[in-house]
Amino acid sequence: MGNLSLEHGNSDASCYAYTAVGNVLGLFFGDYKAAFRFGELGLDMAERSGVERLKARIYLAFGNLAKSSPRHFAAGRPIARHAFEAALRAGDLTYAAFSCNNVLTQLLATGNPLAEVQREAEAGLDFARRSKFGLVVDLITAQFGLVRTLCGRTAMLGSFNDADFDEDRFEQHLGEDPRLSVAACLYWIRKLQARLLAGDHATAVAAAEKAERLLWMSPAIFERAEYHFYAALARAALCDAVPVAARARHRKALAIHQRRLQEWAENCPENFASRAALVGAEIARLKGRWYEAERLYEQAIQSARGNGLVHDEALACELAARFYAARGLQINSHAHLRGARHCYMAWGAHGKVEQLDALYPHLREVEPAAAPTRTFGAPIEQLDLATVIKVSQAISGEIVLERLIDTVLRTAIEQAGAERGLLISLHDGESRITAEATTRRDAAEVKLCDAPVTANMLPESVLHYVLRTKESVVLGDATAQTPFSADPYICQRQARSVLCLPLLNQGQLTGVLYLENNLAARVFAPTRMAVLKLLASQAAISLENTRLYRDLVERGAKIRRLVEANIIGIFIWDSDGRILEANDAFLCMVGYDRADLVAGRLRWTDLSPPDWLDDAMATEEERATGTIPPAEREYFRKDGTRVPVLCGAAAFQEGGNQGVAFVLDLTERKRAEGALRESEEALRQAQGQLAHANRVDTMGQLTASIAHEVNQPLAASVTNAEAALRWLGSHPPNLEEVRDALGRIVKNANRAGEVVGRIRALIKKAPPRRERFDLNEAVRDVIALTRREAVRHGVSLHSEFATGLPSVKGDRVQVQQVILNLVMNAIEAMNGTDEGERRLLVSTQDQAPYGVLVAVSDSGPGLDPQSLDRVFEAFYTTKSTGMGMGLAICRSTIEAHGGRLWASANDRRGAVFQFTLPLDRDEIAGAEEAAQLAALGN
Ligand code: ADP
Repeated sequence: MGNLSLEHGNSDASCYAYTAVGNVLGLFFGDYKAAFRFGELGLDMAERSGVERLKARIYLAFGNLAKSSPRHFAAGRPIARHAFEAALRAGDLTYAAFSCNNVLTQLLATGNPLAEVQREAEAGLDFARRSKFGLVVDLITAQFGLVRTLCGRTAMLGSFNDADFDEDRFEQHLGEDPRLSVAACLYWIRKLQARLLAGDHATAVAAAEKAERLLWMSPAIFERAEYHFYAALARAALCDAVPVAARARHRKALAIHQRRLQEWAENCPENFASRAALVGAEIARLKGRWYEAERLYEQAIQSARGNGLVHDEALACELAARFYAARGLQINSHAHLRGARHCYMAWGAHGKVEQLDALYPHLREVEPAAAPTRTFGAPIEQLDLATVIKVSQAISGEIVLERLIDTVLRTAIEQAGAERGLLISLHDGESRITAEATTRRDAAEVKLCDAPVTANMLPESVLHYVLRTKESVVLGDATAQTPFSADPYICQRQARSVLCLPLLNQGQLTGVLYLENNLAARVFAPTRMAVLKLLASQAAISLENTRLYRDLVERGAKIRRLVEANIIGIFIWDSDGRILEANDAFLCMVGYDRADLVAGRLRWTDLSPPDWLDDAMATEEERATGTIPPAEREYFRKDGTRVPVLCGAAAFQEGGNQGVAFVLDLTERKRAEGALRESEEALRQAQGQLAHANRVDTMGQLTASIAHEVNQPLAASVTNAEAALRWLGSHPPNLEEVRDALGRIVKNANRAGEVVGRIRALIKKAPPRRERFDLNEAVRDVIALTRREAVRHGVSLHSEFATGLPSVKGDRVQVQQVILNLVMNAIEAMNGTDEGERRLLVSTQDQAPYGVLVAVSDSGPGLDPQSLDRVFEAFYTTKSTGMGMGLAICRSTIEAHGGRLWASANDRRGAVFQFTLPLDRDEIAGAEEAAQLAALGN
């Protein structure tokens, strides 16, 4: 899982993978440093992601890492407890039950007061029984046995037997089912501890040996640590009692235990240094290295005390006492025994204390009457009923957020005796200060604000701790040595009493209450804490409620504004076809009035034409999500006409049978669209007519020339016919001449026919065609038609044709019309001037690879440089009878062919109009292929 996550990116389960990798790295490869880093990585990811699903497993796995002291997560609170809460939140009953067992392991490992462990064991057992989780029942039963015997609640110290429990029966039960081996392993470890503490070393070693065989399946470091530590001490003690020959076996085992403990001690001295030192001391004792043993006993006691491990301190003291007694150092021995008794007492191991008292009666006499220096268990928190009622009423009565914040802070300050208070709210993981309260001359002043949390407003380290652990922090004297005393705020402001309370609503952190008093230390007394905690929990609920209420009111106002604005039609429907509520915009759209709606006459199923109705809620997805994406539909108006609409709808809940729909009237848009379509069509027609009119006009100008063109072959035909008649009339008739004459008649008639055909083609209104044609030929045709017109106006018409011009693709007639227009314009332009020669040149050029070019140049007056482009505008003309459409149409024709038409000045005089046409792509491809083939052939 870890590798997959690294290769493909993290999924929400990767956090668990990393923590699990951590477990493997530590336990099986001894790389505790990497193990812990992986563990922290997973933990951090889980905390950030907020995904509850796997948190319990991650906390448990993290708690199994050697370095992660069970108290690592939140001071004084085992991480397994967080696991339990997370498992409950996620509904993970299995891990909730496992967490109950791990809580016990962790409490036992850290030497928590046994009374508390006992309560925890009873609660856990109850939970496991109710969850019907037999394995966990057995696990907790095993742990509970140790707790009971240490507390003195069993028949004998070291034995778990009492009225309700029978060791033999339990051992038999565990032995019967291999699936219970984990419980059996734990049981034998706890038996080992109980027997060692009772001083029964031989049976302790026997228990250790039983545990050892099952140890491979226990993944938790803390159980293993107990095993190695107590087994080592049992074997060391036993060495004194067995013959020399039997000692080797124990010494060998001792070395292994010591190695493991040292390994852990190096990685986490807080948890394991004391134990490693104590085992070291015992080994030194066995080897007769007194000085070293003394030093190590001392070290073990110091380390245990320094790290608050009261149970380890007790044992170290007891063994040191035995060591000194054996060497005859009675005073030393007694001092250590007293220490041991004191620690066992503090731990709550009354069974063990009784045993010591029986063995060393004088110890009891010297027990100081004063209370022990360490106070275990939470202080009894007192609640004054009147205050409770006052606080509850003040807070729960407010539904206006601002007033509630004021009340919460004011009450908090008063109750706590604080000088200053802050309310911090959490939004999307960001904390911001919502209000600040200060006291001036006994009156609290509350200011609402919305400011970021900064280091000069409060000790950020305290806030972060509370945010992370959801635990409250109370600093009696913040400047004294505490984990927070280095905080810049505490240093600068000389903060004394500091209290930071999480506001929790159903386990969710919604805010933080921060209170301080910089005048006095220990202001926030435990008696006040109870009220403040109550205040915090009430405030969390009330704040959330007022926030929800405010959101609701705001959202409601927004929706009402939308509905009442009547910009769009809105109605509320149900799946039976009813319209339950509608705004005026909608009613107006469908032509109904409010009375129809109230009378229930309005049904969306009736409004929808049957064809649309079939469409409604058609797709699976729409049915499943209850949303219909916006689509164009039609509704029946009350008068039976149809109104086009854009309509979308959504059910209030997935699968719900009521929802809201919005409707947009499209009548105007449709009308506008229709009008637009009509005007576009009209424009297109007008353009076509104009183009046609323009052509007819051009041809009109050519009438004289055309008449001549047609008349000439007709006259020639008549002449030839007359000649033929004459040849027929001679005797003998000259048939040869007749045939020749008839041939000429046919040729002339064809010529006349061609001229007429060309004119018809040019003038007719035909749809555009795309064909391949020879451009030179097309130009030649136009020249033939216009030649006489040129002559008539004294214009010399020249042509220059490029050879080998590739064919072009397009509408031949349209292109000819363009050329004709340009030629006629040129003739007309030159007609207006008397200056110099009137010369018209029509040329074609090959512009490979871009295309071909046709240029029409004249020697007329030319164009004003400013109007070079204007001449192409529609209706631009300088002629009294001009339409100004010719060039506009020419340009759009050429552009439609993918070419370009433009005007420029001629070299000396006149204008040049030229256009390009792209090459026929197929031909280019064919030519390239041919060239390649030719190259290959060569
Ligand atoms: P029309 O011929 O009906 O005026 P055109 O669009 O064909 O419409 O021409 C627009 C104008 O362009 C003409 O009125 C004329 O002023 C100018 N024009 C066209 N061809 C030439 C040319 N060869 N030399 C000078 N001016 C020209």
